[in-house]
Amino acid sequence: MNEYDSELIRSILRSHQHEFTDGLANAEAVLLNTCAIRENAHQRIYHRLDDLRGLKNRGHKIIVGVLGCMAQNLREELADREPVVDLVAGPDSYKRLPQLLASVRETGDRGFDFSLSEFETYSDIAPQRVPGSNAWVAIMRGCDNFCTFCVVPYTRGRERSRSLENIVNEVHRIAAEGFKQVTLLGQNVNSYCHEQNDFADLMQRVAEVPGIRRVRFTSPHPKDFPRKLLRVMAENEKFCKHIHLPLQAGSNSVLERMNRTYTKQEFFDLVDEIRAVIPEISLTTDVIAGFCGETDEDFAHTVDVMQKVEFDSAFIFKYSERKNTIAVRKFPDDVPDEVKTQRVMYLNEIQREISLRRNRLEIGKMFEVVVEEPSKKNPQEWLGRTDHSKRVVFFDESAKPGDFVKVRINEAGTNTLRGIVEDQPLRALRVLANFTENNSACSTLYCTTQTCNTIS
Ligand code: SAM
Ligand code: SF4
Repeated sequence: MNEYDSELIRSILRSHQHEFTDGLANAEAVLLNTCAIRENAHQRIYHRLDDLRGLKNRGHKIIVGVLGCMAQNLREELADREPVVDLVAGPDSYKRLPQLLASVRETGDRGFDFSLSEFETYSDIAPQRVPGSNAWVAIMRGCDNFCTFCVVPYTRGRERSRSLENIVNEVHRIAAEGFKQVTLLGQNVNSYCHEQNDFADLMQRVAEVPGIRRVRFTSPHPKDFPRKLLRVMAENEKFCKHIHLPLQAGSNSVLERMNRTYTKQEFFDLVDEIRAVIPEISLTTDVIAGFCGETDEDFAHTVDVMQKVEFDSAFIFKYSERKNTIAVRKFPDDVPDEVKTQRVMYLNEIQREISLRRNRLEIGKMFEVVVEEPSKKNPQEWLGRTDHSKRVVFFDESAKPGDFVKVRINEAGTNTLRGIVEDQPLRALRVLANFTENNSACSTLYCTTQTCNTIS
């Protein structure tokens, strides 16, 4: 959502004749778009502000702005604690940025805006997208669920959905710009509702847009998966066969304290239903370890769900107490930090084994992969994503971001698969050999394509 919001901010500022620089050297202002979901997100911003303070102390005249959820949650407290900050604006205040910037520049006084909107604030703005494989589209904003650990309802305000026609028009523009994949975004994306239209109706209309080949969405809540939505997903191959299904915890008493509105058994039932309707689905999740009052016995239930469901991958977080949330007012943050760390490490360990086991099942299979970016380890290779959201590294000399390429998987790690493009096995071998030699690493490539069945 922050990436998408940054695209909106770019568009708003460009329309007011602001230009973007490549680095800080020529910049007159720097705007940090922030997250507040866990304390480490705040810490990253404080480190950036330390660097910017150094820059200002060395005489660089620059306006420093903090935007987004951290700005909304801390408000003036942020400016009081950080004199380096000139401008603070929450997630619904981006249209006011040109005026805020002008006023800070003209008066030298600090600028603030924290108003939250009841309506979709940005539906009339075309975001300035970075060309590539995927276009983000926010379909709704805010959240009314008030999970007790979560700051989102306080930083992003009440839940409100854009009109279906407005979203579909944006997707037509995206397709005309050449994007083939869209990801529908919302804090609680599957609770989308506008007039008579629900999330399944919207998904169908988006998939009808010519030129769009893949539709993803994030983040859904387990409470909003009616059978209608699952059938829609099963019946149209444009819908990626991946659902991110945040579990948060396995124990019923912790789930209740979190206000998640489902029990452990209801979560199992939902997973069974999803797998019955969409057998090839890949499931990923979010888990919080060490929420208030979580005992060893509670934690064992989380382990039990992870082992029984076997998610394809999981984001596992230490509970991080957030200002303004219900948990901070109602429950003591009483699980010692070392215990939280041990639980996170344990969950990561079991998840790594599960992910590896599940990824190995993909060896020998052919997938259509969307090319995303050059691989970080070896920029001669590409990183792409299968329709069920698994990362694949492969070589293809003619590919570019956004292309669809058929790749046969021949190696599986915990987080990434490796594969060969059907018609380029020998070149792939050469690139890998070159890479192995240059990095003095040892590697085996099993070539299972039809043209050559060798092991090198
Ligand atoms: N709306 C999604 C849902 O209801 O499951 C979650 C979106 S939330 C922005 C992303 C993830 O951050 C959550 O699924 C949760 O695991 C994690 N998270 C949120 N608040 C947290 C906190 N206080 N401490 C640790 N992790 C947290
Ligand atoms: Fe936060 Fe998600 Fe719960 Fe909303 S549904 S309060 S975004 S965790």
